[in-house]
Amino acid sequence: MSHHLYQAAIVGAGPIGIELAVAMKQAGIDYIHFDARQIGHTISWYAPQTRFFSSNERIAIAGIPLVTPDQQKATREQYLAYLRSVVEQFDLPIHTYEPVIDIERQTDYFRLTTRTQAREKTYQAGRLILATGGTDRPRMLGVEGEHLPHVSHYLADPHQYFRKKVLIVGGKNSAVEAALRCHHVGARVTFCYRKPQLAEQSIKYWLLPEFKSLIKTGQIRAYLNSHVRRITTTQTILSVETGPDLAVEADFVLLMTGYEQDATLLRRVGVKLEGPQQKPWYDSETMQTNVNGLYVAGTAVGGTQDKYTVFIENCHVHVQRIMKHAFGVDITTPGLATASLSPES
Ligand code: NAP
Repeated sequence: MSHHLYQAAIVGAGPIGIELAVAMKQAGIDYIHFDARQIGHTISWYAPQTRFFSSNERIAIAGIPLVTPDQQKATREQYLAYLRSVVEQFDLPIHTYEPVIDIERQTDYFRLTTRTQAREKTYQAGRLILATGGTDRPRMLGVEGEHLPHVSHYLADPHQYFRKKVLIVGGKNSAVEAALRCHHVGARVTFCYRKPQLAEQSIKYWLLPEFKSLIKTGQIRAYLNSHVRRITTTQTILSVETGPDLAVEADFVLLMTGYEQDATLLRRVGVKLEGPQQKPWYDSETMQTNVNGLYVAGTAVGGTQDKYTVFIENCHVHVQRIMKHAFGVDITTPGLATASLSPES
């Protein structure tokens, strides 16, 4: 056990956790930083060559420009390389692959227990910032066959689906983007959505026209008002409003039904979680939760989002608020140039 008392601990090394670490390092704060996996883990599970929906300047952090060679929005690969370069540039010490498994509030500090490959460790920190994101695990359908090997909640490299029958379940951006990418790579795509109409307002305007056209011309077969009943190794049984159950043949089934937050740490340390999204309660001027000295940052503030309103691009401001309230440090985060803008639609 280390008896050193750090001024602060950051949990989570996504973009906002890293941006906060840069601010702390520059301010001379004695802090420690953990991530359960590698930096930018959530982004690392995007399919290869996935492009961000946000413009580069909105997801750039710590005043370091995010420049792409083709003037396009950054891909997953470009953004992960960018995050690595920010960490290198500021030489940030991040304890990766060291999950925090317990947090206890002591009288005037937090005791964190972590687990490395070798053993459990304990650390002490006066302030604690949870920048742990909001998409830790897939939203499960709870149907028979969901765990079969050809079923996934994540789009893999589209190449894998070349000349294969792919059933895509869901109705918003992940589902539509997956359908288009699979179609472009030569897969035979079937689309299953539970509502009677496409969720047009929730689908990016540059994806929607092509998607609708492919449905109209029969190149993508779409079943609306349809629900997955069960999945077998060769077929998925859909119930549709208009008739008897359908058996759709599929080599791969992609359940693009959204993602959920793992609120275990928030709960364990006593943060109030509110509403159906189980949003952590926090003071929006300071980012401090109901637990004195404990702050939330980044997309973790949104809980499990249903209609997405919290993105990297509108979280940069959290860094400034936390630095000011927790350490009395007034910073002008270069990322704040974009923080007051509402997210891109
Ligand atoms: P989402 O917006 O939560 O959409 C989940 C979809 O699954 C909805 O259409 C929902 O139906 C459906 N669904 C949920 N539970 C279901 C169930 N039990 N049975 C059947 N259908 C169910 O999740 P997402 O599409 O993964 O998007 C998550 C975030 O990532 C969004 O902010 C999105 O814009 C972003 N994204 C970014 C990129 C990129 O940057 N390239 C790509 C994809 C997604 P209802 O419509 O009825 O609620």
